[in-house]
Amino acid sequence: MTVPTVKLNSGYEIPQLGFGVFLVPPEEAEKAVSEALEVGYRHIDTAAIYRNEEGVGAALEKSGIARDELFITTKLWNDRQAGDEPHAAIRESLDKLRLDYVDLYLTHWPVPQQDTYSNAWQKLIEIRDAGLSRSIGVSNHLPEHLDRIVADTGVVPAIDQIELHPAYQQQNVLDWAEKNGTRIESWGPLGQGKYPLFENPAVQAAAEAHDRSPAQVVIRWHLQRGIIVFPKSVNRSRIEQNFDVFDFELTAAEVDAITAIDPQDGSGRVGGHPLESR
Ligand code: NAD
Repeated sequence: MTVPTVKLNSGYEIPQLGFGVFLVPPEEAEKAVSEALEVGYRHIDTAAIYRNEEGVGAALEKSGIARDELFITTKLWNDRQAGDEPHAAIRESLDKLRLDYVDLYLTHWPVPQQDTYSNAWQKLIEIRDAGLSRSIGVSNHLPEHLDRIVADTGVVPAIDQIELHPAYQQQNVLDWAEKNGTRIESWGPLGQGKYPLFENPAVQAAAEAHDRSPAQVVIRWHLQRGIIVFPKSVNRSRIEQNFDVFDFELTAAEVDAITAIDPQDGSGRVGGHPLESR
């Protein structure tokens, strides 16, 4: 199975479907990532704060898969944005991941009260220039934060990774990204199991029509909208199911019906808000 790729503003390609490991306990991460690699995933999304980079690194090394076939993302945690801390943080992450470089390094949250996200972005540029990350981007940045870091540095992030699923679509961030050539990654793409997406009639109707699970339909919705997505599961059959999404296509009407799920008042949000990040 060849997963389609998306070209980033760095010139590098990212597989549009990956495997996320948020809340995968450190001791389970190696097994989960090994299974994902066996199933065919080549794009893994982790973060320093997930405390499972060692497990991810062990699985990558044991897999024997060539480095240039993998796409590995990790993220800078909020308490390391100031001064030269990002340089120390990336080296620690690389050590744990057993890698010489990551494919994508992201600042995890803007934490506006700290007012260090622009410094962090400047350091990520240096980290990219030093060859420690091929592409750089941000996560949970709203247009005001994106405008600020671009104004301060002239460098546009390759990626903004945001909470995005049919019930919370953040169209204002999508518009900014479209205008500036930034690609969007969705986190919580299935609503983290907290929002009743799978029971929604539009999702259920498409699932029945294509004889697929609601989760597969929601993953297809992301893919067909050009979003990069990495659902998380530690269950082998779900890891397989979430990857088995390239032999059917939602109709335009099905995509539109799922897009219409968003209550548009922000009430579909299941995770933290960037302005409250700490
Ligand atoms: P998700 O929307 O991928 O939901 C995961 C949950 O959905 C699982 O725990 C499971 O309960 C359920 N699930 C998965 N596959 C299923 C299936 N086939 N059928 C039924 N239920 C299924 O949520 P997530 O893990 O939060 O998001 C995905 C990834 O995004 C994370 O692992 C992480 O890599 C990233 N993330 C980033 C941030 C950030 O701030 N940048 C925040 C959260 C997550």
